[in-house]
Order: sequence, then C-alpha cells, then structure tokens
Amino acid sequence: MRTWRCTRPRTARTASPYLAERDRSSRRRLHLASDLDAAIEVGAITLHYQPKVHTATGEIIGFEALAGWQHPLHGRVGPDEFILLAEQTGAIHRLTEQALDSAIGQVAAWNRLGRRVSVAVNLSPKGLPDVRLADRILATLERHGVPPRQLVVELTESATIGDQFQTERSLKALAAAGVKISIDDFGTGHSSLARLRRLPVHELKIDKSFIMELADQQGDEAIVAGIIDLARHMGLRVVAEGVETAEIRDKLAALGADHLQGYLISPPMDPETATTWLQRHQTWSLPAAADA
Ligand code: C2E
Ligand code: CA
Ligand code: CA
Repeated sequence: MRTWRCTRPRTARTASPYLAERDRSSRRRLHLASDLDAAIEVGAITLHYQPKVHTATGEIIGFEALAGWQHPLHGRVGPDEFILLAEQTGAIHRLTEQALDSAIGQVAAWNRLGRRVSVAVNLSPKGLPDVRLADRILATLERHGVPPRQLVVELTESATIGDQFQTERSLKALAAAGVKISIDDFGTGHSSLARLRRLPVHELKIDKSFIMELADQQGDEAIVAGIIDLARHMGLRVVAEGVETAEIRDKLAALGADHLQGYLISPPMDPETATTWLQRHQTWSLPAAADA
C-alpha cells in the first residue's frame, strides 16, 4: 500500500525550497546554539538603548535596553533568535546578569553626566522564579550606586503566570526596594486581571502590534483605548511602543498614553550614540520637517 511513496526520488525532496530553507535555518540555529556560551563569555552580546519620552511634554523618561549579538559570521543577530536558545540551554541566567550589569552601569554613567533617566531591562520568564534574582538585582544597583527607582524591569504577561509563588516574592522584593515593574506586550497574553492586581505592577506597555495599526484600524483603536482606560482605573502608567508616525503619536496623545517609544523618536542606539542623543535632547519634539 505504501510503495508509491518510495518511488518519489530522494533528490526531489531535498530540492524542495521549503525543506532546503528549513535545513538552513536549523543549521543556523545549531551554530548559534554552540557559539552562544562563548559569545556571552567574550561580551559579544551587547545592549542597544531606545528612548522613551513623556507624551505631553517630550521629557526624556529613560531607555529600554535591548540585547543584540555581533556574530563573526552572521552579522548582528537579533534577540528574537537567541533569547529562546538561551532559555533552552540555560544561558539566559548569565545573559540576564550581564544585561542588568551593563544597563545599570550605563545609567550610572549617565547620572555622572547629570542626566537622571531610567533604564528598562527585559527579564525572561525563565529567570523570574530564581530565589536569588531580587537580591542579585539590588546588589548590582548598589554596586553601581544607582537608586532602585531608576530601574524598570519588563516582563511579559505570561511571566506572571508561571511559578507564581516565587515570581510574586521576587517582584514584591524588587518593588519594595523601589524598582518599577512593567508588563510588556500587554494585550497579547492571557493574564488574569485579578492576579495582575495582586502584583506590584507600575506600568503596562501596550504591544506594538496594536500601536502600529492604530492609524487605520478602528478595532485597534478600541483596544488601545480600552487598555488605557483599564490602566487608569488600576492606577498604572501606560507606555505605547512601536510608535512610527506623527499621526500615531497624535492619536496616542488624544487617547492619553503617558509615554511613547518607537522609531519616530529613535531606533535603539549603541551606548555611545545613545549618550550623544541624550546630551542633545533635554526634551524630544517632532523635527520641523516632519510637521510640514
Ligand atoms: P520587546 O521587549 O517588545 O522590544 C521591542 C522590540 O520592538 C525591539 O525589537 C525593538 O527594536 C522593536 N521596536 C522598537 N521600536 C519599534 C518601532 O517603532 N517599530 C517596530 N517595528 N519595531 C520597534 P528587538 O530589539 O528585536 O527585540 C525583540 C524582543 O527580544 C524584545 O521585544 C524582548 O522581548 C526580547 N529581548 C530583547 N533584549 C532582551 C534581553 O536583554 N533579555 C530578554 N530576556 N529579552 C530581550
Ligand atoms: Ca520590552
Ligand atoms: Ca514589547
């Protein structure tokens, strides 16, 4: 009954563009996985910084730290590719520690320049149940002489659903010390609002998929308005990420989003470029040409 399958030449299978592509991408994943430890060791994974501004005043609130890997063969590899790998291999713990140390060190450097902004670091859900996480973060802040209120930790909704007991303990210890907790990609997960209410959350970050289509989709406007309304009732701050156009900025201002982040303001920048950008901007406003 099955012989007809075997008559198909093997070469035809490997020549399928889909299979060839799948092969290439799994080979790439294997390479990256085997290089990851060494990359962390030599500091090839570095942070870029993307500014967040106050919607109404343009004040520079702080920066989100985003990891990137400068790979000798593959060029700059984005976090969407290697964070998952790091979570699978367990390297995520060292990666998170490195990111926290660099980002907090960067804020200390900006403080020395007289600019007191915050920095937001993304935490993997895999690292949250770690009983030593909060102590380590607070020790890093102390070592760099940075007040905890200048650190924001961003975690996704799903991260709050995992090992609830230890996650809650970590977050409560951080919040009690003054660290701000932000729920990233809000609107895409399935968190229970009742649970969210019990956590010491300060900020909701509306997922960029809703923001980017704000210009022309009625449905998304209703979602964004709904999230902002919800945040108001819960006493939370709202950040809109993925703000790419002046039109979207204007809509978000009308809807009452507190802070904005996106390519309209700036793409993520390497530390030197971010420092120059910060020194040039006390506040941010749309370039005149964009208004014309
Ligand atoms: P995220 O936390 O939601 O970060 C925002 C992503 O949107 C970043 O992508 C950023 O470069 C991109 N972005 C910012 N503004 C715009 C815009 O106006 N338009 C568009 N289209 N995109 C914009 P990136 O750098 O590729 O990061 C992807 C994800 O990787 C992040 O999503 C975050 O979940 C994760 N990630 C990044 N760095 C770290 C890290 O150090 N640790 C962990 N655990 N995760 C990280
Ligand atoms: Ca984030
Ligand atoms: Ca996000």
